[in-house]
Amino acid sequence: MTLFRAAILNPIDIKSWQFLLDGGLLIEDGRVRAMGHFNDLVKHYPWEPVTLDGVILPGFADIHIHWVQHAVRGRYAQALLPWLATHIWPEEARYVDAALARDRAETFYADCLTAGTVMGMSYSSPHPEAAHIAHAARRGDWITGNVVMTANAPADLVAASVKPPADLASLSETIGRAHYAVTPRFAINCTVDDLAHLGAFACQEGLAVQTHLAESAAEVQEVKRLFPQALDYTDVYDAAGLLGPRTVLGHCLHLSPREWSCLKGRGCWIAHCPSSNEALDSGRFDLDCARLHGIPFALASDVGAGPSHSMLHVMQRFRHQHRAVGVRVDPEEILFRATIAGARAMGRGAVAGNLGPGKRGDFVLMPRSARLQSPQSWFEDLLDGSPAELEQRPLGTWIAGHPVFGGARPALAEPLAPC
Ligand SMILES: [Zn+2]
Repeated sequence: MTLFRAAILNPIDIKSWQFLLDGGLLIEDGRVRAMGHFNDLVKHYPWEPVTLDGVILPGFADIHIHWVQHAVRGRYAQALLPWLATHIWPEEARYVDAALARDRAETFYADCLTAGTVMGMSYSSPHPEAAHIAHAARRGDWITGNVVMTANAPADLVAASVKPPADLASLSETIGRAHYAVTPRFAINCTVDDLAHLGAFACQEGLAVQTHLAESAAEVQEVKRLFPQALDYTDVYDAAGLLGPRTVLGHCLHLSPREWSCLKGRGCWIAHCPSSNEALDSGRFDLDCARLHGIPFALASDVGAGPSHSMLHVMQRFRHQHRAVGVRVDPEEILFRATIAGARAMGRGAVAGNLGPGKRGDFVLMPRSARLQSPQSWFEDLLDGSPAELEQRPLGTWIAGHPVFGGARPALAEPLAPC
């Protein structure tokens, strides 16, 4: 058992969090045994504490990130479709090289830990081997999937892609159901038959599904042209059986009332990616509408359209975009959307997301400030800064109670056991 002593800010829901100026966090066998005021806790557990100079937050969850775009993040283009063709597809083609993929995967996970991200959902390139490499190299709790792209894409990527329904079973078996997501890149890159095969497979195996939906207006128009039989973009996925409570849909910026109702009915999650939406000028997520329909959503970086893997930066842009148009966003909700909501979207709500009893001891240490007496003020300050500053802001990161980063680049370690 390890007893940590520090200030602690623990999210509860979208309206509340628990703040302890002098807190104690007891970790036993990698999980939270108890948390509370240090002086109360130490009476029951009289251990010598590990005193940390900072504020403990739960580790962050990023539920939409393209790990194979990490090296080219922030290379803006005018809009989604030209950006994909110019910057992204040539980069992803390079992941046919296993040595490059291994090297990039190590850098990706190390950078995530340095930024305080301990779990998430990632998109790999079309190459099955790259998805295996990402899974084997993972540090933290990750769900990943090879993007399926069998149409309207460069020949080398189409050739590398799994052709549904062949090969899907072997991939999900080797990576494991808890860590594999069926991942059609987006409707434009798949045929009606491919999407149906993917939907049937995900349903049969009980797998997570991740894809993009209605990110840009031009994309919506292209989907309309390619799928004239569909009611709308959402219907393309719905008709294929891809929508359900284990589905995480990136963006959802250009939806009709019928589509919002459909997502609500299917119980889908949305990955809201504010920094990416700004970068590609894709539009603003209709936060009021999501709230009105009670649609669950969590924050995500969408690297490489998102310029940074820092969830602090994503939270900053979330705050800025919606407050700028007069939509209320409280600090408690901001933290909730980057932690508990992400864990729930991944199906990990019972084991991760905050520092409640029994949950995995995943946490990040942030610097204190003179405004810590008011946790709201301290938290607002925490989100200020450039992407580069925010990527480096955490003082340390722990997974299952073990330090994995602490002021320096983490050393390579064995992949952690799945939760
Ligand atoms: Zn994306």
